[in-house]
Amino acid sequence: MTNILTKESILAALSKVQEPELHQDLVTLNMIREIQIEGGRVKFTVMLTTPACPLRGRIESESRQAVMALPGVESVEVKLSSEIPNDGRMRGLVNTTIKNAIAVGSGKGGVGKSTVAVNIAVALAQSGARVGLMDADIYGPNVPTMLGIEKLPPPNGNKMRPAKAYDIEAISMGLLVKPGQPLIWRGPMLNSAIRQFLGDVEWSELDYLIIDLPPGTGDAALSLAQALPLSGAVIVTLPQLVSLEDASRGLEMFRKLEVPILGVIENMSYLDLPDGTRMDLFGSGGGEQLAQSAQVPFLGNIPIDQNVRIGGDSGKPILVTHPDSPVAGALRSVAENIAARISVAALSGGNELPINIVE
Ligand code: ADP
Repeated sequence: MTNILTKESILAALSKVQEPELHQDLVTLNMIREIQIEGGRVKFTVMLTTPACPLRGRIESESRQAVMALPGVESVEVKLSSEIPNDGRMRGLVNTTIKNAIAVGSGKGGVGKSTVAVNIAVALAQSGARVGLMDADIYGPNVPTMLGIEKLPPPNGNKMRPAKAYDIEAISMGLLVKPGQPLIWRGPMLNSAIRQFLGDVEWSELDYLIIDLPPGTGDAALSLAQALPLSGAVIVTLPQLVSLEDASRGLEMFRKLEVPILGVIENMSYLDLPDGTRMDLFGSGGGEQLAQSAQVPFLGNIPIDQNVRIGGDSGKPILVTHPDSPVAGALRSVAENIAARISVAALSGGNELPINIVE
């Protein structure tokens, strides 16, 4: 039998496979690389837009099936790799490449904003991305505690070097002031401190810089959100209605500043009891409701689990201590949804953010 397999016929087959988030086919998106044909054996690489792609399994199986269906194909080997898009907003502000900066905000304190920021950073790093975490929560800079970091490494000349923990580079207001010293920040000082955090820190090349903002919509949060070249922002909220009003003000702040809103995360959504029942301690469904009414994506629910708090207090994030727990799975899924939204925003020029991504 003559072998009619060619790169063109394989590309034609793969041009029928859609990238479910980006709503275009894999060939148009230039995601198919390194096609190799040896007799009936076909190998190719699918270049995803993030190693934390939530739909990688689906993309892999659909592309395999599409090529398998071609006459003459005996086996298909799909390799998944990733190339994270750079939205270019950081250009000129840092001496290195920081591809995407993602702010984590909340309408008020105590909703788990820092916990979520830390665990999203860990989840993205575990997926293979290069991740930095900037703790800009001047009121409660607790990222160092949550990552078990006590001090920054010695500076390199006049450049601060970030601390390293769990494959994340981290910098925090909490590491720059002595414990117990009051943090008094006025607008202009805050802006210059943040510029330092960007320009005077020796960051490595980063795919994602996660920024833990101060809670609320006061001056500090506002001026930081303004000073930073953000790719997008997420809002953490609790399920109950009073929290939602605050969260919705937080969303409004990002909207006014024209920061793309990547979506809403509902934390402390429920508690799974040992007898298998589920308890909604703080009501339910509020985060999803808020996302719907604000027309932004809902990025997921995170249950209450005492190991989350223990992880935070002991400097060992739950994604490291209990990676297979349901709450770690929920945090990972939120991180993947954020990475997917960032890809969509970067590839669509930050304009359109389609909603309803949780299937
Ligand atoms: P914020 O940054 O919004 O002020 P934190 O992240 O500091 O909030 O969280 C407040 C407290 O709640 C911390 O003790 C943290 O460990 C705990 N916490 C956050 N999320 C959860 C969760 N899903 N389950 C259990 N405890 C949590």
